[in-house]
Parts: sequence; structure tokens; C-alpha cells
Amino acid sequence: MDLLNTLVDKGLRRELPTREEALAVLATSDDDVLDVVAAAGKVRRHWFGRRVKLNYLVNLKSGLCPEDCSYCSQRLGSTTGILKYSWLKPDEASRAAAAGLAGGAKRVCLVASGRGPTDRDVDRVSETIRAIKDQNEGVEVCACLGLLSDGQAERLREAGADAYNHNLNTSEATYGDITTTHTYADRVDTVSKAHAAGLSACSGLIAGMGESDEDLVDVVFSLRELDPDSVPVNFLIPVEGTPLGKEWNLTPQRCLRILAMVRFVCPDVEVRIAGGREVHLRTQQPLALHLANSIFLGDYLTTEGQAGKADLEMIADAGFEVEGAGEITLPEHRATTAGGGCGSHAEAGCGSHAEAGCGSVCGSHEGGSVCGTAAAAAPAGEPRTDLVAVRRRGAGTDLAPNA
Ligand code: SF4
Repeated sequence: MDLLNTLVDKGLRRELPTREEALAVLATSDDDVLDVVAAAGKVRRHWFGRRVKLNYLVNLKSGLCPEDCSYCSQRLGSTTGILKYSWLKPDEASRAAAAGLAGGAKRVCLVASGRGPTDRDVDRVSETIRAIKDQNEGVEVCACLGLLSDGQAERLREAGADAYNHNLNTSEATYGDITTTHTYADRVDTVSKAHAAGLSACSGLIAGMGESDEDLVDVVFSLRELDPDSVPVNFLIPVEGTPLGKEWNLTPQRCLRILAMVRFVCPDVEVRIAGGREVHLRTQQPLALHLANSIFLGDYLTTEGQAGKADLEMIADAGFEVEGAGEITLPEHRATTAGGGCGSHAEAGCGSHAEAGCGSVCGSHEGGSVCGTAAAAAPAGEPRTDLVAVRRRGAGTDLAPNA
């Protein structure tokens, strides 16, 4: 297919595709999905080889949010029965992080619900970052605390944070349909503050909220312009008790086309599959590793992921390898432009906040059991609500985390 040959050539040169080319990827048929994966896979392997970076979420503060993000089970008025708790103590957060690192993660993403941190909250998180860094040599830490005020990104950087996550989530044109308590411009401003403070910026999207192909291309082109080091791609987990709880409109093939489009538009950036991986890609998850070079290990913020062991087995069976702590994630031209180790601007980032957020997200997934478990097969095209389980283990509980 001429389109795919052109996109591979552009991806290897880091050349921006046209909007029409990006839209054409989303418009390919299911018959062509393996060709699309093979083409975008060439770009992925050129910049990232067969490495898969593992990230681990620690939900520092869950629920009780005054914002109204429609996709989020932590939002104001959510009736989803998620875990609700206030700030984890630094040693509790450090223990949770250690479980993820022992499971193979190299980055820990510290997430808190809420509009944004107070200065006291930044003090708390700074203490937590120091505790995690003291106890785990070489770990990358990303903070995801919502909208930042002046000076807060600098303070997090001084405390040792490598990255900051804040997702754009969707196009500027549709942002007001999803959230009314803050704006798209607020989100862009926070990503810019993280960049300016020398933090590696992490910013991504949520697909499946009823947006058009044009909206998806818009948000991914906006991300390319913002130039984060990592781009989490969330697939909406329609959680009962949220306004988008009935929005089941993704197929595994659609998810693969979206990931391929993101890879072509952001070829040399860490593309991370975030919330919704198990629920929407299901048995096709290994194909998605040919497109993304990063995933979350274990559970999400408010929902449960498949067993960490199943993640590791999938990576090995698909012929990929877990990226080691000593390996640099980003290609040399990005890794050397900023700070060190993981990424560029300073380092690397996680996801955002909110379901979509930290890549993961609050909300994402939900559940309990499931993924990875053998449930009775649903007819093709039926929503797999059985794969959504609210998190009942790990941070905020007495039960061991999934890692
Ligand atoms: S995404 Fe973040 S800001 Fe929005 S409702 Fe959820 S926790 Fe609050």
C-alpha cells in the first residue's frame, strides 16, 4: 500500500505525516490491519528495537475529586464504588513502588486525584519522591498531580522527580464536552510548565469517548507540537457510575489503528499503552506491542489490570524484552536533549491523572478480576463489561499489590 510505504519512510526520518495520511490510517479496513501493524512496527523497531518499558502506578490519593471529567470514576458525583482514601504516607507509597520495581518496572508514576496540588501537597509528594529514590537506586519517578501553579514543577524537579504527566485527553474542539471545570488551555499550560522546569513531559490521550477520527488526529498533532517524551494512549474504560459508562465503541482492530496512527505521527517518542489495554485489545494485546514501546505493569488507579506475571509472559511470548533499568528509553537525539536517563527534557513521564491520566488512570479498567481470567467468550462486537473490575488490592488496602 503506497500510504503505508510513505508513512514508514516519514517515520524513519521523523517527518510529520499530513493530516490526510493520519486520517487514512484510521480509515483502513479490518482486512488491512496486519499490514498497518507491520508498517508501524518497522518505525517502532527502528527507534526502540524490541524493548518494552514497564511503568508502575501508585495512586497516592484516590477519589474525592471536585472536578467533573466525564471519563473518570474519581469525579465529582461518581457513583462507582472505587477505593477512596487521602494521601498515602511516604513509606506506604515507597512500599507500593518497590512491589512494581521488583516486578520489572523501571518507572514509578505517582498519581493523586484533584484539580491540582496545594503547596503542602507538593511538600508531601516531594517527601515521597525522596523516600522512593533513596530506597531504589536508578528508579525514574513521574508525578501526576493535576494542574500546576507557578513554581510547583520546579519544586518537584528539585525533589528528584524525573517527569510530569498531564494528558490533553481529546481535541481542543471537544474538550468542553468532556470536562467543564477546567479547560484544554489549562492542560496545555501545565505541560508547558513541566517542560520549562526541566521535567520530561508526558502527555497523551483517551480514545473511545465518542470523538471523531478528526478529533483523534487533532489531539495527536497537538501532542506532536507540544513534544512530550512519552505519549500514553488510553482506551476509555466505560465505568458504571460515570457519564461515559455506556460508551462502548472500540474494537481491538480500531485500537491497533489508533496506536499505529500515534506511532506514525510521533515516531521517536515513547508510546505507552495505558488504561483499557486488557478491556479493549483483549487477546490482540501482543500485536499492540509492535506499535507501542511501553505499557503499565499490573493494576491501574481505580481498576485492576491483568496479573503482572501475565504481562511479562505476553512480552516474552511475543518476542519482545523488558527494558532494563540501565537502558535508555529514548533514541539518542532525544535522550541527550534534556536530562538524563529516560527521556529527554529531563527524563520521562507517566500519564495523567484521571483515568486517563497517568496513563492509566483512574478509572480505567476497574475491576477485579478478570483480565487474564478465562471468562465465557462474548459474541463479537459485544461490550466486554465483564472485563471491568474496580481495584480492591494494593495502595489503600491491606492486600498485596498486583505486580
Ligand atoms: S481526571 Fe483527575 S481532575 Fe478529572 S475528575 Fe478524575 S481525578 Fe479529578
